[in-house]
Amino acid sequence: MENNMSITFDAKSQNESLARMVVAAFLTEVDPTIEEINDIKTAVSEAVTNAIIHGYGEKTGTVYMKCNMLTNKIKKNDSTYETDTTIKIEIKDEGVGIENIEKAREPLFTTKPELERSGMGFMFMEMFMDELIVESEKGRGTKVSMTK
Ligand code: ATP
Ligand code: MG
Repeated sequence: MENNMSITFDAKSQNESLARMVVAAFLTEVDPTIEEINDIKTAVSEAVTNAIIHGYGEKTGTVYMKCNMLTNKIKKNDSTYETDTTIKIEIKDEGVGIENIEKAREPLFTTKPELERSGMGFMFMEMFMDELIVESEKGRGTKVSMTK
């Protein structure tokens, strides 16, 4: 079984909680644990915050979020079924882009220390999700793809 959802919203901090809630609501169908929901919400929050504060900064812009859920029924030896779900989330902006992705992904690296940023966002996304792919082009924007 497959299910898809996408939303776009203005790059405003009040939309961070909206993005978190929408993802959590999308997931309820597969009965995730509280821990799984919290992990995914944290990762979404970090990526959306980055799009808003780093991607667009003071400028207006749009953040795009796409979610894909794939559920497989696996037949076990005793003929009962087990379900295995993979969730893929993409968060994209058309902001300033990242010059050096490798460097940006290093723990504690931040270009906004004056805003009390600690450079932990990408590390959290990596910790709380199983896979993290960052694609970016300077001046064109950034796309973060996460799988769990
Ligand atoms: P924290 O997430 O702990 O508040 P941070 O946002 O600086 O701090 P990361 O989320 O790890 O730390 O991001 C590291 C750096 O990568 C940022 O400081 C910024 O320079 C760059 N970056 C991340 N996301 C984007 C984006 N969407 N657009 C442009 N630059 C980005
Ligand atoms: Mg961050």
